[in-house]
Amino acid sequence: MHAEIISVGTELLLGHTVNTDAALVARELAAAGVDLLFSSVVGDNPERLRAALDQALKRSDLVVTTGGLGPTDDDLTRETVARAAGLRLTLHEESLRRLEHFFQGRPVDDLQRRQAMLPEGCTVFVNELGTAPGCAVVTAAGRTIIMLPGPPSELERMLRTGVAPYLEARSGGVIHSCMVRTFGMGEGRVAALLAGLTDQANPTAATYATENETFVRVTAKAADRVEAAALCRPVVDAIRERLGDVVYGVDVPNLEHVVVAELIARRMRLTTAESCTGGLLAKRLTDVPGASAVFRTGVITYANEAKMRLLGVPEAILAEHGAVSEATAKAMAEGARRLLEGPGEGLGVGITGVAGPGGGTPEKPVGLVYIALSDGQETWTRVMSPPSGGAGRDRAWLRLHASSHALDLVRRRLLGLPMQRVRPNPAPDYAPGTETRATSRG
Ligand code: ATP
Ligand code: MG
Repeated sequence: MHAEIISVGTELLLGHTVNTDAALVARELAAAGVDLLFSSVVGDNPERLRAALDQALKRSDLVVTTGGLGPTDDDLTRETVARAAGLRLTLHEESLRRLEHFFQGRPVDDLQRRQAMLPEGCTVFVNELGTAPGCAVVTAAGRTIIMLPGPPSELERMLRTGVAPYLEARSGGVIHSCMVRTFGMGEGRVAALLAGLTDQANPTAATYATENETFVRVTAKAADRVEAAALCRPVVDAIRERLGDVVYGVDVPNLEHVVVAELIARRMRLTTAESCTGGLLAKRLTDVPGASAVFRTGVITYANEAKMRLLGVPEAILAEHGAVSEATAKAMAEGARRLLEGPGEGLGVGITGVAGPGGGTPEKPVGLVYIALSDGQETWTRVMSPPSGGAGRDRAWLRLHASSHALDLVRRRLLGLPMQRVRPNPAPDYAPGTETRATSRG
């Protein structure tokens, strides 16, 4: 089945609103095994929306619209879709009752009432979080149009509770997918290692690059969920086998969840000392519910004076090597570890680097970040070297990437993995390149 998305809204064309709805829909379609071939944006203008719909209905089996279902004058999607599909709008009683319930006895005016006017014969998707229902209509030519509300929270809920079951029922089977998550390898390299696995039809395996990670989604279609999961399993195993320890989890939310879970499992604690990441590592850790069991203290030691006073970084190290250096990162990690209170095993992390955009020098360019991990016995350091020319990577990305490297070091220490990933074979590494050294404390 070929699908396309039409996002409706002048605010999207003006760049005032980022089109997150299209991304949510695209992911849902991929999860349902539907091929998305086009995605376009059109303003709140009935003629142009009609033209976009007419074109879409010529080439796609499924058209999903987002936005323009609300009560205001510029909300024209419902009327325009009905016209394009050659269907009349009729009052959907249940939607009207839901509207009346939403307004808790206050009168529902005609503008609001419009939201309950839906194309005859459509499948209605309840809006659990707002007033405008969504729906799916099938045209005389057998094309399907799904209309979804614009507010992302409403759309997201409706995708899950209405659209996914609708697509599943129509596909005559269930779709099951698993997400294999990796850190530390670029998408190109991942794809190359998975050659032969990514061109199968059932299950499919596809790579996705996010800001600083690569995912592999394995999707199987079968008569029931058990069978679909069974189809996925050997492919997931093969992916793990080929990618090795850059895989940090399957169907896990993110790297920080994995790290917190592993710390909890080992009853170990972690303390962070951050400079250029400005607390991002601590933020990511404390985003995980239950983090308080393993994380109590994180310090941001931006100034040299703070590194000395709070972490006990020797003045001589700062004078000799500078704040951005392996020796300083190491002293920060060891200092962080000393901040752990009470008994029990614990780890300390130190991060120091040049996040840019200013402040770089030929010796210490923007993007040079040192990350260290101490367990009290041993201290490991990793250097994140600048991407070639320092180009294209902004401050936010460098900070995110540095915090991920720190989490990766912790994960490797907890799982007893090599502190640097073992490369399946020599190849251009993920930019920026990294290396790890282990240095024992005397
Ligand atoms: P409402 O009932 O709120 O009017 P609607 O279905 O008519 O919903 P719109 O009026 O098009 O939707 O958009 C409502 C709000 O939803 C917009 O102000 C915007 O914040 C958000 N929104 C709309 N479309 C998108 C989109 N494609 N991506 C992200 N947000 C969007
Ligand atoms: Mg609206």
